[in-house]
Amino acid sequence: MTLRIGLDIGGTKTAALLVDANDRPLGRATHPTDVSSPDRLVAGTVSVVDHALRNAGRSRDQLIAAGVGVPGQVDPSDGTVRLAVNLNLREPYPLRQALQDALGVPVALENDVRTAAWGAFHWASEQEPLNSLAYLSIGTGIAAGLVLDGQLYRGAHGMAGEIGHIPIDPAGPRCICGAYGCLEALAAGPAIAAQAIGAIPNEGGQPLSTARVYQLAAAGQPVAHQIIERAASYLSRAVYLLLMAYDVDKVVIGGGVTLAGAAFERPLRAAMSAMRADSPLTASMMPDEKVVIIPPDYNAGVTGAVYLAPVPNVEEIRK
Ligand SMILES: [Zn+2]
Repeated sequence: MTLRIGLDIGGTKTAALLVDANDRPLGRATHPTDVSSPDRLVAGTVSVVDHALRNAGRSRDQLIAAGVGVPGQVDPSDGTVRLAVNLNLREPYPLRQALQDALGVPVALENDVRTAAWGAFHWASEQEPLNSLAYLSIGTGIAAGLVLDGQLYRGAHGMAGEIGHIPIDPAGPRCICGAYGCLEALAAGPAIAAQAIGAIPNEGGQPLSTARVYQLAAAGQPVAHQIIERAASYLSRAVYLLLMAYDVDKVVIGGGVTLAGAAFERPLRAAMSAMRADSPLTASMMPDEKVVIIPPDYNAGVTGAVYLAPVPNVEEIRK
């Protein structure tokens, strides 16, 4: 009677992790996300939950709570998704209430990067005691989630950590937000792939993927190397920005682009090292060990969602 489920609802797929009262993983499931309507989004989410329960040999009546991360602007106080373009939610939608009604358990709803930050905080806290952390997600977009004094920090408008839209090169390309030279427009996955188009001969007529550009750079392809070195230089500054703005214990980096592994990490560490060589302040604020890449097999999104799931206390159960 004490199972919790964490859900990471993405624009293309929804992942679920079911755990017992001791946080032990019992079952997982992943389905494509149906964004054709809010009703279908909710129905699809319920079917992922049921699939994870089935995989664990459990049933819905054993579930006590769910945590959910979604890519968009969320008001955690009333559980409304204000805007989630990737989920096709362009008007405010009471997703938390809809999921609570459909699942029959209390649900916590949070922005996906913040949810992953909470998962990263739990992961990093297992290695050493921590008070604060910035989780930098680098994928289709760039954003950070902040844990300060052991609590998720949202800011006054739920925008804290949205550093992907900080302009860092006024001469840079125009960003989807309208500004020029945002970090995201320079160093996120699509920006890297866009810089490779036309600059690197494509093999077999296929457009180069971001992962391929990282591979080619690691293999010494000069144009790819230049693109990745420049991206690493921007990203090292983003890491430093987080450390200087919030003075966190750790910066944990995750997101799809980091799956390039050493091809991602090596140039980033080199760029950080070059910054340290220029400044004793940087050297003291950004030692190598303060910055870690989350392991590819650790799903911070679903784990963070599990830890956000509101566990009803005895009083609430009696009601
Ligand atoms: Zn922007």
